[in-house]
Amino acid sequence: MEAMLYEKLSGNLVKCNLCNHHCIISDGLRGICGVRENISGKLMALNYNLAIASSIDPIEKKPIYEFMSKTKTYSFASVGCNMRCSWCQNHLISQSPKPNNQIVGNEISSEEHIKLAIKYKCPSISYTYSEPTIYFEYALETMKLAKEKGLKNIWVSNGYMTKDALELILPYLDACNIDYKGNNEVYKKYCSGNNISVLENLKIIKEKNIHLEVTTLLITGVNDTKEQVLEIAMDLIKYLGHDFIWHITRFYPNYKMLDRSFTKKKNLEEAKRIGNELGIKKIYLGNI
Ligand code: SF4
Repeated sequence: MEAMLYEKLSGNLVKCNLCNHHCIISDGLRGICGVRENISGKLMALNYNLAIASSIDPIEKKPIYEFMSKTKTYSFASVGCNMRCSWCQNHLISQSPKPNNQIVGNEISSEEHIKLAIKYKCPSISYTYSEPTIYFEYALETMKLAKEKGLKNIWVSNGYMTKDALELILPYLDACNIDYKGNNEVYKKYCSGNNISVLENLKIIKEKNIHLEVTTLLITGVNDTKEQVLEIAMDLIKYLGHDFIWHITRFYPNYKMLDRSFTKKKNLEEAKRIGNELGIKKIYLGNI
């Protein structure tokens, strides 16, 4: 499918404006996410209608704790991600197109997802597991159909989409959980991206009254010292005020960080204490 949100440049170059990488892509090549390819001067979304995972989860697993509590949510994903976090818990899905250019998945249309959600009595659809921005056309089409059927739409995202992309989904978005991973150094060193774009999107989402929960995975050696937690909390307060829900979750060894240890429980508790002292309204610890 021809991608949304791109522009043609001179020659056969294209510029993708879906996420804040703004990749400029030559003919025959792909963007950083590995799923958008320039084919003869047209940007194509290669993962459109290809689901790599679909499942029914408790909404709390997203994690979303204060919206439609105790309900099930129909969840699906395509391959690909615009980040490459060294600790990714879903790297088999999110990073799979990058080493070998393979786009795998089962062809499942948006209509079929909606039918399955209704069949299994799920009042919401979650766009999750990998990064929904990266299957934007597929997700947006499904969101529109979900709205027509009275289902809610939930994004679990790294929040690195452009404002143009965010504007297109906001009318259909009911709730989201967005990661905030650390300061700009953390984004640059471990993820590829920047923190300010994420913070600005968080602010927009909150101002639009979309139900928002924020997650920070605490990792020793990356972002779990008192100073680092304080910086993360202050960044969030600067953009969101004190009235937001913050999940602080425990890292377990994964992907390129198999040599690291689990985050100590006392560091998680200390992070919660710091957030509480700063006046953040609701803080939950996760993965403990
Ligand atoms: S979605 Fe982001 S990473 Fe992928 S091609 Fe577009 S700008 Fe690049």
